[in-house]
Amino acid sequence: MVGVSETTCRKTYRYKLCPTPEQEQVLETVLWHCRRLYNVALEERKTAYDRRGVTISYYQQKAELPDLKAAFPELASVHSQVLQDVLLRLDKAFQAFFRRVQAGEKPGYPRFQGRNRYHSFTYPQYGNGAVVDGRLLSLSKIGRVKIRVHRPLEGTPKTVTISKEADGWYACISCENVPTHPLPKTGNVTGIDVGLKVFYVTSQNEVCENPRHFRKAEAALRRKQRKLARCEKGSKNREQVKQQVAKHYQKVKRQRADFHHKETLHLLRQYDTIYLKDLQVANLVRNHHLAKSISDAGWSQFRSILECKAVWAGKRVVAVPPQYTSQLCSRCGAYVQKSLSVRTHMCPECGLVLDRDHNGALNVLQSGLELDQQATQQQRRAEQEQAGAPPSGGNVAGCRRRSPRSPAL
Ligand SMILES: [Zn+2]
Repeated sequence: MVGVSETTCRKTYRYKLCPTPEQEQVLETVLWHCRRLYNVALEERKTAYDRRGVTISYYQQKAELPDLKAAFPELASVHSQVLQDVLLRLDKAFQAFFRRVQAGEKPGYPRFQGRNRYHSFTYPQYGNGAVVDGRLLSLSKIGRVKIRVHRPLEGTPKTVTISKEADGWYACISCENVPTHPLPKTGNVTGIDVGLKVFYVTSQNEVCENPRHFRKAEAALRRKQRKLARCEKGSKNREQVKQQVAKHYQKVKRQRADFHHKETLHLLRQYDTIYLKDLQVANLVRNHHLAKSISDAGWSQFRSILECKAVWAGKRVVAVPPQYTSQLCSRCGAYVQKSLSVRTHMCPECGLVLDRDHNGALNVLQSGLELDQQATQQQRRAEQEQAGAPPSGGNVAGCRRRSPRSPAL
């Protein structure tokens, strides 16, 4: 759940960089050194573990940096905090690995980073090596790079990440204490369900389709990817097609993000609280039929944008457990099992006939309201106990069967 009372939030601003050809060369070199350091440090951790069964920590590796710099003088061409951040990234990869092992998930050991897998480096302390100066981004050991600040920075800048993308270089500046811009309260709430054919449906039966231009661009991307697969490995043609695919992929990615930003704003303008399914996307993608729709729809990206923006807009987004939301009848609570191919919910108990996704959205709303009600009651009970009064008996918790209600919520 995302808090409602904050008046500031964290936000990342992304600006395009326009380096000169010489600066671009330097940026490439820095990236190259960072990637090499990452691989060297990974190698060190791996050998230490394989040979001696020892785990090397981030702090040990950080302490070794001066020695490493003495051995590889070319590392002096990279800002020292940027190098430290490389080690920190590796440490994060290991932390994630250990967490997965503990959770019994498929672990996936941290990987050596090839040329096409390492795209960015970070100045972890704004003002120390990286600072915006009018139309220039001043980067220590690199120079003053032209930056397109298309909207002003707000809050306190904390870190600067320089990344290489298919169409050039970008700077992502992460800021804290960014003032929020609350949207006017409307008193409305909604539940939304991710659709298979459409992007989402609200409990008010507002249907949001995937935009057509976006579907077209995706189809074109798939065609290009097939073409790439047919190209001979190592050929010049393959390199060219690869470039095209990367550019096109970036375009699709941007269109999708753009669509998500518009849709989230549209929802937050209308509703004070939005309930949505707490989907475990990783679990769903394993399900073959859903894989396409879920990854295409980019549901998790949509959700994180919605949650971030809600804080900024002074609204609430609440995730509810997804169990049975598509199977239960939203009017009488009866369990009506249906496979994914069944598009309509038809209740044999109460006779309700409704679009499958609309029924799901109504269930999400209902679960969300119940969840909130439980939370309020718990809070009230805790307050009463603190005040010394005997707790009053509430019996809403755990009630799965619902009282009849109208579907026109
Ligand atoms: Zn029913």
